Amino acid sequence: MSAKKGTENRDLVICNNCLWAVSLLKGSQVFDCCPVCNGKDLEVMPVEDYENYKLDINRKRGLSIEFTGEN
Ligand SMILES: [Zn+2]
Repeated sequence: MSAKKGTENRDLVICNNCLWAVSLLKGSQVFDCCPVCNGKDLEVMPVEDYENYKLDINRKRGLSIEFTGEN
């Protein structure tokens, strides 16, 4: 397997305050603050192109992300 260069990354942006989340394509708009609650507590998680993930938002347990790897 050879790694391809120049593939698009997807960055997952999560607001720690209200759990708003969005998946950003590289080169798209960068968020300085959360558009929902205006919080600055944003977390950016780089997600590789080949990675699949399951985002589970639960008000009691909070946010959990499960990476399922290559399909
Ligand atoms: Zn927010």
